[in-house]
Amino acid sequence: MKHSEKRILICGILEDVPNYIKAIQNIGFTPVVATTLPTSEGFALSDFDGLLLPGGSDIDPILFGQENHGSRTIDRDLDDKQLAMTELFVRAKKPILGICKGCQVINVYFGGTLIQDLTTNERHQWDGDDRHHLATAVSGTYMEKLYGSAPVTINSAHHQGLDRIGEGLVVCQRSEDGVVEAVCHKSLPILATQWHPERMTDAWKQANPDRRTARHESVDGGLVFDAFARLVRAAAIDEDPEHILDGIKCFALDMDGTIYLGDRWIDGAREFLARVEEKGRRFVFLTNNSSKNPQVYVEKLRRMGLAVTEDRIVTSGQATCYYLKKHFPGKRVFLLGNELLREEFVNDGILLDDENPEVVVVGFDTTLNYEKLCKVCDFVRAGLPYLSTHPDFNCPTETGFIPDAGAIHAFIHASAFRYPDRIIGKPNGDIMDYLMDRVGLSRDEVIMIGDRLYTDVAAGKNNGLYSMLVLSGEANMAEAATSEVEPHLIFSSVKQIIPYISPL
Ligand SMILES: [Mg+2]
Repeated sequence: MKHSEKRILICGILEDVPNYIKAIQNIGFTPVVATTLPTSEGFALSDFDGLLLPGGSDIDPILFGQENHGSRTIDRDLDDKQLAMTELFVRAKKPILGICKGCQVINVYFGGTLIQDLTTNERHQWDGDDRHHLATAVSGTYMEKLYGSAPVTINSAHHQGLDRIGEGLVVCQRSEDGVVEAVCHKSLPILATQWHPERMTDAWKQANPDRRTARHESVDGGLVFDAFARLVRAAAIDEDPEHILDGIKCFALDMDGTIYLGDRWIDGAREFLARVEEKGRRFVFLTNNSSKNPQVYVEKLRRMGLAVTEDRIVTSGQATCYYLKKHFPGKRVFLLGNELLREEFVNDGILLDDENPEVVVVGFDTTLNYEKLCKVCDFVRAGLPYLSTHPDFNCPTETGFIPDAGAIHAFIHASAFRYPDRIIGKPNGDIMDYLMDRVGLSRDEVIMIGDRLYTDVAAGKNNGLYSMLVLSGEANMAEAATSEVEPHLIFSSVKQIIPYISPL
C-alpha cells in the first residue's frame, strides 16, 4: 500500500480521542484510531509513520510491580494494548508522542514506576475542566527550545504521575511541586508530556472559549505537535535512503561523544574505523579543543589501543594557523594559549610576540592568569584584529565542565567591549576550509559526523558538506526535532554505519 502522506496511529478508543484527531490533522497528517494494528483494513506497521498514545485513566499498578495504593478506573486491556503497540514502534525506531496517560505508558514501558495517588492532586486533577499551574523546562532540553527557560502556564488533568524514570528517558520539564511534566528518550524519537497540548492549541482555544484552558495565559500546545511532526519528517534513524554514504570518501569525525566517551570507546567505534579503511575510505578526527595538539590525541588513541598518525588529526589550533598565514601573513601574534598551542604556532611558522603584537588570538588557555587577562584586554581594547580558535563555552571532562574559550571571550567582552572578529573552529567555515585543504576532496565526498547539533552538524551542513548526527553523546532526537540545524542523516552511533560502507 502506498501513501502520499504521513499516517499516525492513535492507540485509543475512537469516542475518547476527537481532540487528538484534530491536533494530528492540524499538522497535516492522517490519524488512524485503533488499539491494535488494523490488519482487517490492510494496514501493517510499515504503513504508519508515528504513534500517538493519548490520555486516559490510571494504569494498572501490577504493570510496574506494585500493589494498588489508590489507582482507579483501570482499563487493563487498554493498558496491555498500548504497551504492546509501544513495543512495536520502539523496535521499529518510529516516532512516538505520549500525552498524559501516554507519557505514563512510555515510562512504564521503559521500566519506570508511577506515583499512584499524587499528594498534590488538587493542582493536577480534572474537576470538570483542566487545572492550570506553572512548569519550568530543564535547561538544554527540547522543552526549553519550545517554551524558553522561564516558568510557563500549562494545563493538567491526571491522577497518577511519573515516579522512578524509565531507562533511557530524560526529564525535560517539571511543575513547581516537582511533578514531571515532560520527558524524551535519549536515543529514540520519543516525546511525552504529562499535560494536554491537544487542549492548548490555538485552534482548540478558539473553538472552546468558555473552557479554562482558553481563558488562561497558557502556552501554545501546538508547538509540541510541531515538534512531533519534525520527528516524523526527520531522517529515519540508522537509514540512508538517498545512498549518501555510497559517495563518501572521507569521514570527518568529532571525537568525544562520537568515537569515545572520556577514555572508553563507544561500542563498535573501533570496528567502524577498521571498516572505513578496509573499504578504501579515509577518516580524520576534527576537534575544536585548542588546549591540546595533534600529538596529544595520537598518544591518547594509542593508549586506547588505536595506532594513528598525526595527519589524521585536525584541530582548531592548526586551522587558526592556516587562517593567519592566509589573511595575516608575517604578522606578529599575541596568543592566549597553553604551551602546547604556542609550540604548535611557532612550529607552523607563526611569529609570536607578547609585547608588540599586530593580531590577537584567543585559544583554550588552561594556564590563564590575571596578568595574561590584563594584557589581552589591553590589546583588544586598542583595536587589534581579534581572532579565536573556537567558540565553545565549556569543555566536558570526567568530573563535569570546565570553562572553555567562549568563557574567556565573555571575560574580555566585559572589560574591552569586544567579541572576536572571527572564530575559526566548528561550526564556522574556516576550520572546514582547512579540512578540505587537508583532505583534497570535493565537499560532497566528505561527511561531518558528530554528537552536537550546533557545532558538528552545523559545521557540515552550513559549509556544503554532508552531515550526520550520532545519538551516542550530547544530542537526542527530541533536540534534533526542535533544532534549526537538520542533519542529512541520523544514526544511533557509528556502529550502525558499518553495514552502509561498501567498497569504493
Ligand atoms: Mg562531541
